Amino acid sequence: MTLDTIDFSGILEEIKEEVFPFFGKSKQADYIPALAKVPGDKFGMAVRTVDGQEFVVGDAKEDFSIQSISKLFTLMQVLGLGDEDIWPRVGREPSGTAFNSLVQLEYEQGIPRNPFINAGAIVVTDILAGRSADASRRIVDYYRMLSGNEENRPDEEVAISEKECGYRNAALANLMCSFGNIHTPIADLFDVYFRQCALTTSCLDLARAAMPLVCGGYSPIADEQVMTSRDAKRINALLLTCGLYDAVGSFAYTVGLPAKSGVGGGIVAVLPKAFSVAVWSPELDRYGNSFVGGKALELFTTKTDLSIF
Ligand code: GLU
Repeated sequence: MTLDTIDFSGILEEIKEEVFPFFGKSKQADYIPALAKVPGDKFGMAVRTVDGQEFVVGDAKEDFSIQSISKLFTLMQVLGLGDEDIWPRVGREPSGTAFNSLVQLEYEQGIPRNPFINAGAIVVTDILAGRSADASRRIVDYYRMLSGNEENRPDEEVAISEKECGYRNAALANLMCSFGNIHTPIADLFDVYFRQCALTTSCLDLARAAMPLVCGGYSPIADEQVMTSRDAKRINALLLTCGLYDAVGSFAYTVGLPAKSGVGGGIVAVLPKAFSVAVWSPELDRYGNSFVGGKALELFTTKTDLSIF
């Protein structure tokens, strides 16, 4: 594969024009009131290649709420600490249910299907909270190290907004607690979890922060091996099978890249050994994934003819 012959700038400009008809067909997340205020017509996209080139279009440098994409970085952080204790407590299978669904937890004795649905991510955060009284700060520091952007910080308005109406997440945590799979007091755990979801980021930050999944566990931004190449391979496999909630099959079919989405409208995707790509557009499809972002990534892998397949 040769990246040099691809006109990434031209392709991003074309995509920005071609996604225009897809706006206004869905709406932003409103179950977190602070997110409902974000204008729906935002669109940004950023690419970083393995040789360090970067390309951006639209609102690629504008901050938005990272939301579920934070689940990827907390998993990287836990695995980077060499913590394998996670796997008896969280599965590695696609969920087939919504990101905040309760039903499967009852059947499977409080063990979430994977680390990228809310229940699984809450357990991953519980592991970090169990290791450090200062987990919230460590999560922010870890993300800043990977993105190279010291300005990434929790948006307290979003964190409070989510905490005030986080009834489903509270139900998930309480149910898992009843099965012995949550160890941190729930109020403390949610101080960490909601602040991690409320982190601000841009597409460019995300494309940079995902580079360890492109470079076998090495972050070119931090100039550090942040996890083993084996763990990078494993996380990419989990992204492909679990990163887009119960739309993961359709996303693999149309886009063909390991990826993680969030209800803030961001999606980050990687092609190992080649590039990372991040997109932001706040209007969501019925699964909670960015509608326009999904279309943009489909156009991207079609126009570049680069995907894992
Ligand atoms: N903070 C959100 C929640 O826990 C994350 C969901 C998402 O982005 O999919 O509901």
